Amino acid sequence: MYNKKSKIELKNILEKEQFDRITCSFYKYCLIENPDNLRNKLYLDLKDLKILGRIYVSKEGINAQISIPEHSLKDFRSYIHSINAFKEIKFKHAIEEGTSFLKLKILVRDEIVAYKLPQDSYDMNKIGLHLKPIDFNRSIKEKDSIVVDMRNYYECEVGRFKDAVIPDAHFSKELLPKVAEILKGKEDKKVHLYCTGGIRCEKASSYLIKKGFKDVYQLEGGIIQYAHDMKKNNLKSEFIGKNFVFDDRMGERVTKDIIGQCHQCKVASDNHKNCKNDSCHLLFIQCDKCAKKFNDCCSDVCNDFMQLDIEERKKIRKDKNKKVSSTKLSTKFRPKLYKLFNYWE
Ligand SMILES: [Zn+2]
Ligand SMILES: [Zn+2]
Repeated sequence: MYNKKSKIELKNILEKEQFDRITCSFYKYCLIENPDNLRNKLYLDLKDLKILGRIYVSKEGINAQISIPEHSLKDFRSYIHSINAFKEIKFKHAIEEGTSFLKLKILVRDEIVAYKLPQDSYDMNKIGLHLKPIDFNRSIKEKDSIVVDMRNYYECEVGRFKDAVIPDAHFSKELLPKVAEILKGKEDKKVHLYCTGGIRCEKASSYLIKKGFKDVYQLEGGIIQYAHDMKKNNLKSEFIGKNFVFDDRMGERVTKDIIGQCHQCKVASDNHKNCKNDSCHLLFIQCDKCAKKFNDCCSDVCNDFMQLDIEERKKIRKDKNKKVSSTKLSTKFRPKLYKLFNYWE
């Protein structure tokens, strides 16, 4: 049971829809006895509700980013809450709307967030204290407070809390050991963690507590809830720039500040995109001027390749020696450019 339609077909279907959609996310750490059964049940039921998006199901819980037809929102919420393990799930609405997903993809995974940590390095019964956004703002200004961004480097490049520690991690599995290393000797400080929607901080806080950190806090509902609460209460956002998201929107604006820069010409920009050359598909930041100059490609190599006619391109792709591979290109750009690997919030 999975989608078999092409991207173009899916786009056409979406364009013809006569209703609005709402992008929303939720997660829950809880014991799921049979993830495969749940996966199949969810797939059938959510397909009926015309829900699109990406959901991970695992023995340790569920992690979902989805797009819901506005008129199905109520039915969807009651459906999720009717599943015993998901009774208390809270839903977070996107900060900025836009086409987020084209299809429904539900996968069974080992972890709902791919930290790849040994099981004895954390205990999900001991997690960091949740702070509501307003309390988080107050707490990070107190003496001996540290704020740590629990996301990958490319996410922090376009948006972050002003004084946050930014671990230079390119892959999820590097992140937690790196954070523990950076914070070594600061076990008595107040450590404040944040991520996109909160899910990454749950396990991260547990890991740090096990490492001996005494005061570990996590931003409840992540950047998404924070942005909503600041707006609602007319408060100044301590998070500046864009909130990177793992769907077709690639980012939601939180404040007007542009803190990133174009990877090609270095002017201020926070437009993430994937290289137009599908054999490359590199995730990078590109300003409008460079987008024109390189035809939405990450490099001359990819641009030249995309200028060839489609048959020629097919031939080159088949020819292993001449293959325009992403690895070749990304090595050239490292450490500034990373491939987007879709295993997050
Ligand atoms: Zn540029
Ligand atoms: Zn490229």
